[in-house]
Amino acid sequence: MITKNSETHLKSILKETKHAEHKLMNNDIIIKMRKVGFVRDNALISGCSTHLVFSKQQNTQNPNETRRRLKDANFCKHRFCATCNWRRNLNINKELLEAFTTIEADRSVSYLFLTLTIKNTSTEDLKATVKHLNQSFVRLSQTKAYKKAILGHFKALEIIGDKTPAGEIHPHFHIILIVNKSYFQSRNYLSQAKFTEMWQKALRVDYTPIVNVKRIKPKKNSNLTALQSAVFEVAKYSVKHTELTKKSDEEFVNIIEQTRRMRFFSTGGILKKKINLMKCDEELIRCKKDLEAQWVEIEEEIYKWYGGDFVLVERRKSEEHIKDIPKNDVAPPPLDDVDDVVPPPDDGFSDYQNSDEYFESIDLDIIDNECIP
Ligand SMILES: [Zn+2]
Repeated sequence: MITKNSETHLKSILKETKHAEHKLMNNDIIIKMRKVGFVRDNALISGCSTHLVFSKQQNTQNPNETRRRLKDANFCKHRFCATCNWRRNLNINKELLEAFTTIEADRSVSYLFLTLTIKNTSTEDLKATVKHLNQSFVRLSQTKAYKKAILGHFKALEIIGDKTPAGEIHPHFHIILIVNKSYFQSRNYLSQAKFTEMWQKALRVDYTPIVNVKRIKPKKNSNLTALQSAVFEVAKYSVKHTELTKKSDEEFVNIIEQTRRMRFFSTGGILKKKINLMKCDEELIRCKKDLEAQWVEIEEEIYKWYGGDFVLVERRKSEEHIKDIPKNDVAPPPLDDVDDVVPPPDDGFSDYQNSDEYFESIDLDIIDNECIP
């Protein structure tokens, strides 16, 4: 039976469940970070997206139609935060698909999906191995054969495979290559055997590395185009959360330490100027300041993370812009929205949360006027 109280509770929870799902996905990594003593990383991820502001918008052409757009949030931007990686992947998917659309407007192209690997190594050698892989890719892309055949690329680094044995790490690249439509019939065509030979040479190894290349073709029984599926496949790669938390403490520490400041995505050729990877990494909210003509903001909804979900703590009608609310004069959130919600415990990270770095990405106006029940 639904009591009045639980009805109120249900109404006040964020309907867009993905934010809560990703935040909860961080629990394992937070526990692991705490266990191995990564206090700063733990504080960052624990404090990520505890505060979400949505812009509720109305369609002026059809007033019954409304939508929500994320407008502000305190994202941590940590490499291994599930929420921030989800936002980054959305950005990369969007940027890639837009870039491919503009390229296709100019010329007729096809796409290849290339996987380049090296023998598994230990987590202690991760950084050195990735450096070697990157240098090898530069050597490969500077060969005449590559330059003649390939117009551009998007490259993603993955460091753990699905079946990587315990104690090992499997750094490898997944790459989308852009070629002319005529490539498959041209003398510039590179077979898998040729790619393998070129990669072995670039890697400067005495064994045959595993290389896979396939043409990206429309997928059967899928609503996605072939290119969309390839983009989603390549953009999702970095470090699988579930694989990472399964690693021993020592390996986990090595992976975190050795991937600091490591770049997981890169572009080249005709794709280079079309994608801003820095923006994909940093701008985790893409709410357009100027709404499209038919959408108008009617109110802001402010959600806070309490007891395992996002709870609506305040609505602000759009005319009451946040900047117009005087400091220290903020009305408490409506009681019916929060009366069955327990305020979060003090997590002891206030020093960090008061640091400049923590505030970097957050709208200070909102923080200054933060309402805590
Ligand atoms: Zn985060």
